[in-house]
Amino acid sequence: MANYNPYENMLDVLDKAAQVLGYQKEDYEFVRYPERELTVSIPIRMDDGHVEVFSGYRVQHSTARGAAKGGIRFHPQSDENEVKALAAWMTIKNAIGNIPYGGAKGGIRVDPHKLSARELERLTRGYVRKIYPIIGPDKDVPAPDVNTNGQIMAWIADEYAALSGSWQPGVVTGKPLATGGSLGRNEATGRGLLFTLETWCEKNHKDIRNLTMAVQGFGNVGSVGALLMHQEGVKITTIGDINGTWHNPRGLDIEAMYVYANSHGRSLKGYTEEGAEIIPDSELFSQDVDVLFMAALENQLNGSTMEKVKAPLILEGANGPTTEEADAYFEKKGIEVLPDVMSNVGGVVGSYFEWVQNRTGYYWTEAEYNERLQKKMREAYEDVYALKEKYHVTYRLAAYMLALQRVVEAQNTRGFLG
Ligand code: GLU
Repeated sequence: MANYNPYENMLDVLDKAAQVLGYQKEDYEFVRYPERELTVSIPIRMDDGHVEVFSGYRVQHSTARGAAKGGIRFHPQSDENEVKALAAWMTIKNAIGNIPYGGAKGGIRVDPHKLSARELERLTRGYVRKIYPIIGPDKDVPAPDVNTNGQIMAWIADEYAALSGSWQPGVVTGKPLATGGSLGRNEATGRGLLFTLETWCEKNHKDIRNLTMAVQGFGNVGSVGALLMHQEGVKITTIGDINGTWHNPRGLDIEAMYVYANSHGRSLKGYTEEGAEIIPDSELFSQDVDVLFMAALENQLNGSTMEKVKAPLILEGANGPTTEEADAYFEKKGIEVLPDVMSNVGGVVGSYFEWVQNRTGYYWTEAEYNERLQKKMREAYEDVYALKEKYHVTYRLAAYMLALQRVVEAQNTRGFLG
């Protein structure tokens, strides 16, 4: 898998979607290329006085439907191809969510766990100074992603205010409440995933309370998603994070795990529970459960892991957890995949709600926020579902088809040929 290129993977699915729609290459070729890619270097003075230079990226894949929009991740393996693919997935996702954005993504190649809080702040501010010319509330709006959080978003908003001379909270979303964040945003991705699963249950005449689940990943998406699904009655028997895989056949104590992880830097390291054991990570995918909930990184279900999967349903909370090869295998085996670009759209829909509130200066209650989120998630699911039924394709292909139609229509209406 060393040569795995997620951008190529994205292009293959896009081409397939275009083919089913009967598009000629020239109808959609512009979507195959990111509009703008920026690579920056960020020199930081570390606490001990030495200087380190970090690489950062911001890719704006599309602005056809509005300002570029997407998160920023801090990860030691982050690179141009990963960020490019993630940016394109945002274009697709934002079109499916039918929110007025294009797609973007950013990344810094760093292990943030090795940095002190002050170093992290200097790195974040240094990154903002480098990408400043291309971001803004109507240009490109970052948000949290893997290993980034509300505090980092607050530093971004503050650095942007210092550079521009005005406080514009709509330049970044996923902020803490004290700096123009929104009630509900922190839980939005996980809650959206719950709504997706509920709609799937309804369509398949299943009771969510009878479902069993294994979860990969316990960051914001995995932990909030697991907690909310557990509260609706899903029995979660297995959870794996970077420190290990916990298993309890009677169902893990998700509330205790959630509290533990939140007070231990989002990590489960050292967590114990009566009746739970630590099992090898390699056994996570082969759990005999109803749902495999993917909430870590891309490229997890691939040619060498796909055959382990026993669950008949995969719920994608992470972006790009399934490679094309694995996707084809699951289709053949009748394993259904609720794809990232539809299922985890709650995060960016929630960001859109925050941005709307920032721009109007009028703030909603959590109940209003969650109600609107549910409506948006439902619409996204139904729009994808209609195409899936019409063309007899997978959810993923239908999702890409829907997005492609919307992006192409927007760009054609605006006009782009020189
Ligand atoms: N990082 C999240 C995602 O991948 C949220 C992006 C956003 O809110 O802009 O969808």
